[in-house]
Amino acid sequence: MSSPAATRPELLQTLRESVAGGFPVAVAELSKLVRIPSVSWAAFDPQPVSESADAVAALVTGLGVFETVQVARAPIGTGADAPLGQPAVLATRAARNGRPTILLYAHHDVQPPGKDEDWDSLPFEPTVRGDRLYGRGAADDKAGVMAHIAAIRSFVETVGSDFDLGLALFIEGEEEFGSRSFTNFLSAHRAELAADVIVVADSDNWDVDTPALTVGLRGNVTFRLTVSTLEHASHSGMFGGAVPDGMLAAIRLLATLHAEDGSVAVEGLSSREAATPDYPEEQLRHEAALLEGVAPIGSGTILSRLWSKPAITVTGIDAPSVGNASNTLSPSVSVKISARIAPGQQGTEAFAALESHLRSNAPFGAHIEIDDVDTGNGFLVDTSGWAVTEAKTSMTDAWGVEAVETGIGGSIPFIADLVEMFPAAQILVTGVEDPDSRAHSPNESLHLGVFQRAILTEAVLLARLNERQ
Ligand SMILES: [Zn+2]
Repeated sequence: MSSPAATRPELLQTLRESVAGGFPVAVAELSKLVRIPSVSWAAFDPQPVSESADAVAALVTGLGVFETVQVARAPIGTGADAPLGQPAVLATRAARNGRPTILLYAHHDVQPPGKDEDWDSLPFEPTVRGDRLYGRGAADDKAGVMAHIAAIRSFVETVGSDFDLGLALFIEGEEEFGSRSFTNFLSAHRAELAADVIVVADSDNWDVDTPALTVGLRGNVTFRLTVSTLEHASHSGMFGGAVPDGMLAAIRLLATLHAEDGSVAVEGLSSREAATPDYPEEQLRHEAALLEGVAPIGSGTILSRLWSKPAITVTGIDAPSVGNASNTLSPSVSVKISARIAPGQQGTEAFAALESHLRSNAPFGAHIEIDDVDTGNGFLVDTSGWAVTEAKTSMTDAWGVEAVETGIGGSIPFIADLVEMFPAAQILVTGVEDPDSRAHSPNESLHLGVFQRAILTEAVLLARLNERQ
């Protein structure tokens, strides 16, 4: 199929008016959801997560176009006594007349709010200041939930409820706690979730005026590395100079992970060259708060370093503290290694490269132990798929500017699970956030203009797919 034309002006106009007309209701419904403290972490009361699922299910039922709406849970792990995960909302409507099915994903659980005093208004008291709605989950990801609901509402208002597009809605309840029952949920509801296109509304836009489609996510590998040289500690005055201590061996080994310019120097960790939008060094210095005189590391464009190349960080170290330091040669030192890996490389393959590098570079014959390994695959969209073109056209129509294809330096491991379970589906990672949203942090907020444009984008996408032969 040739590249699709812009949306018909009269259809776009009707959708635009419907979204604008329904916007106050969408903000009010979002605010109601934000009031429910649906923190999915194990240490928090699970009751609000259930309440939040029920509230979302009521909104979805109210749309009146789904054939099934249910609140469902799946077990975490296997076995008869496996605990159940947090409740998700699942709704379906079958496609007709050869039209595609679109699955809309978001999550209704939130991160813990942190301390109230770090917020300018209370985290679960949705508050509008200027262009923004503040509150935990106002952006991540209750705005994603509401973008789906409001978009469906305007789509139905525009085309009527007798449409052919297949719809599935999956609103997860434990994304912020590691999506622990996610794969079991996918297997249990495989048929209901099957779709030609999956929209994951849990990401970012380039800025408040420019939409973005996330086309690459880095994967991650973390583990504990223990470097040992001695069976027990001994006096550093007595043996220092002839006996390598665990600290020296660890420092030298860790230093081999990076080249002189700070880029990763581990053979077998892949990098991608991809065109990236302009992002000046000054902006990086400002956003990451680099101290005066400190140089960025790595090579290539700055965004390619963040999106398409690996990074290795030592995020923790178990060693004698400075206050307790005695004149001792430490027998062993443990560190936590956290690596981000380029989209397109498998987590297990990246771990194998790291392990082999560490084992073959151990200085002085030091003993290497690696445990607590965790890997997550990255994600790379095939941007030649028709759904990507449809999504970008919808964004341009709704925002009035072309979408930027972006990467994300972080990882959303559940996307790899989706790809694995539904290899034929085209996955579109969209979002309602912008660079000032501060998801997971105090004063999280949603830009209301972005929210409205995100709803319109999705309404346009639904209308376009509904007409797609
Ligand atoms: Zn999220």
